[in-house]
Amino acid sequence: MKVACYFCKKEFTIDFSDSQYLKIKKNPEARYVCKSCNRSMQQEAQQTTGLHPDTIDKYDKFFR
Ligand SMILES: [Zn+2]
Repeated sequence: MKVACYFCKKEFTIDFSDSQYLKIKKNPEARYVCKSCNRSMQQEAQQTTGLHPDTIDKYDKFFR
């Protein structure tokens, strides 16, 4: 499946080994965030809040 990263707009081909594959398959409107953007987003989440709920969730688990 071809997806475009929500942030950098690059195209990626993902399959079920990607953790976001099912989410996007179920909901074509769901945003795909590539691994490198994901990483930089998590770093940003250390400084700011109110980001993408998915990110916050993962982040909370990581830190609590
Ligand atoms: Zn990206």
